[in-house]
Amino acid sequence: MSIKINFDNSFSNLPNKFYSKIFPEKTKNPHLIILNKNLCDELNLDYKNLTSSEGVNFLSGNLVLKNSDPLAMVYAGHQFGNWVPQLGDGRALLLGEVLAKNNVRYDIQLKGSGRTPYSRGGDGKAWLGPVIREYLVSEYMNNINIPTTRSLSAILTGDNVYREKTYPGAILCRVARSHIRVGTFQYFYSREDTKSLKILADYFIKNHFPNLEKKENKYFELFKNVVDGQIDLVAKWMKVGFIHGVMNTDNTSISCETIDYGPCAFIDNYKSDKVFSSIDSMGRYSYKNQPNILIWNMACFASTLLPLLEGKKEKNIDILQKEISSIPEKYKNKWLLDFSKKIGLKKIYPENEVLINRFLEILESENLDFTNSFRGLIKEVENSNELMSKTDTFKSWKNDWKKLFKNKSNKEEVCKTITSNNPAFIMRNHLVEQIIQELLIDKKDTLNKALLCIEKPFEKIKNYEKMYVSPTKEQEVLKTFCGT
Ligand code: AMP
Ligand code: MG
Repeated sequence: MSIKINFDNSFSNLPNKFYSKIFPEKTKNPHLIILNKNLCDELNLDYKNLTSSEGVNFLSGNLVLKNSDPLAMVYAGHQFGNWVPQLGDGRALLLGEVLAKNNVRYDIQLKGSGRTPYSRGGDGKAWLGPVIREYLVSEYMNNINIPTTRSLSAILTGDNVYREKTYPGAILCRVARSHIRVGTFQYFYSREDTKSLKILADYFIKNHFPNLEKKENKYFELFKNVVDGQIDLVAKWMKVGFIHGVMNTDNTSISCETIDYGPCAFIDNYKSDKVFSSIDSMGRYSYKNQPNILIWNMACFASTLLPLLEGKKEKNIDILQKEISSIPEKYKNKWLLDFSKKIGLKKIYPENEVLINRFLEILESENLDFTNSFRGLIKEVENSNELMSKTDTFKSWKNDWKKLFKNKSNKEEVCKTITSNNPAFIMRNHLVEQIIQELLIDKKDTLNKALLCIEKPFEKIKNYEKMYVSPTKEQEVLKTFCGT
C-alpha cells in the first residue's frame, strides 16, 4: 500500500520571505530505529504503512509526497544574549501540516535532513546521539504532561556524519503545534518589515487563538496568552528538575511547547545552579535562572509586537511593561502550588513556601536526588524506617511537615498527591547516554526498557529497578553538548 498523508499546508502559502523551499537530501540506506505508535494514532497516520520501506523512505526524506511542500523556515534570535540577525532551519525541513484526530493542526518536520540556505557552516545533518536524546526526552515530557514538540520517528540514514569523530547519521521526525518562535517575530521586527510581522501574527492567531481574531486588541491578547503559556511551561520544567540548556529566543516557541532538545537534562542530585550544557560557562541557563530568562525572552517578544499595537507608542510600552512586570508574581504562585503538591499539599498554606525551601536546602546540602527524594516522601508519610536522611535538620523538617499536613489533610490524600505529582521515572541523562552507547553497538535493551518506562512514568515497572535509581559517580554525565 502506498503512503498517503493528508497534508494541509498553510505555512507554505505565506509570502516567500518566510522560508526557502527546498527538498531533503537523499539518504543512503535508511533504517527505522523507533516509530511512535501512539503518535501515529493521534495523527491519523497508518503505523504499519510507515514501517514499510516506502514509509521509511518517507521518514528519511528520500520520498517526498506530492502534496508535501518542503521548506526551511527563516528566523533570527538572541543566542546567549547576543543578537544574531539571521538564523533559520539549518538542518530541518517542514514537510507540511496534518490535522490530528482532535482537529488540531500539527507541523511534520524532518530534523537532520541536509543543508538548507540557513545552514551557515553546518552540514545540515544530525547523528544518532542527539536524535535519540530528543526522541526520549520529548516523548517523556509529553507523558508527564509538559507541553512539548513530539517525536514521530528516529531513523538511521546509513550515511556517516562527521563531528569530532565519525558517527552514524540519523533523522528525527519532529511534530509540533507550531515551529514559530520569538526569533521568527524578531526576524521581521529587526528588518522593520511591519507588513510581514502582521501577516505572521495574524497567521498565528488564526491557527492557535481563533477566538482572538475579532478582538480589538488581539496582538496584546496574543502577548498575554504567550506569556501565560510560557510561565506555565517553565514552572512545569522546574517541577521536574528539567534544564533546557539553550533558552535562546530562537528556541522559545510561541505555541509554548518545549522545543530544541540540545544539551537539556534532568537534575539528579539537586543543585540549584546546575548547568549541563558544555557551552553555558556563565550559567545563563542554569536551573535556577530559567524563570529569569523567561522574563528576558518575553521582553524580546514584547518589543516585536510594538509596531502592531494601535495608539501611542509610550502608552503601549507601558502596557507591555506592566504585563512583563507581572511575570515574577504569576510564576511564583504557579511554582508554589506545584511544589506544594510535590510535598503532598493540594493547597497553598502560609507555611508552605518556607517548608518547600527548607526541603530544597536539605536536598542541596546533603547531595540528595531531586526526583527520588520528593517521591520518597510517600515512605516518610507512612513512617517507615527507611529515612531518606538521618540528619537532625531533616528530622526537624519532617516534624514540621507532618504537623502541617495532619491538620490539613489525611495520609491517603497526601500520598495520592505526592504520587501523582512526582514521577517515579525520570529520563535521566546517564540512561540517555547508555542507550546511545548501546545503539552504537546495535543493542536495544536499555532503549526498549526506557520506552516502556516512558509510557508509564508515574509507576515503577517490576524488575526494572536500575531504571529508577540515580547514577553512580562513574555513571554520572556532567556535561551535555549541543544537539548537532
Ligand atoms: P540550535 O542551537 O540547535 O538552536 O541551533 C542554532 C542554529 O544553528 C539554528 O539555526 C540551526 O538550524 C543551526 N544548526 C544547528 N546544527 C546545525 C547543523 N548540523 N547544520 C546546519 N545548521 C545547524
Ligand atoms: Mg534551535
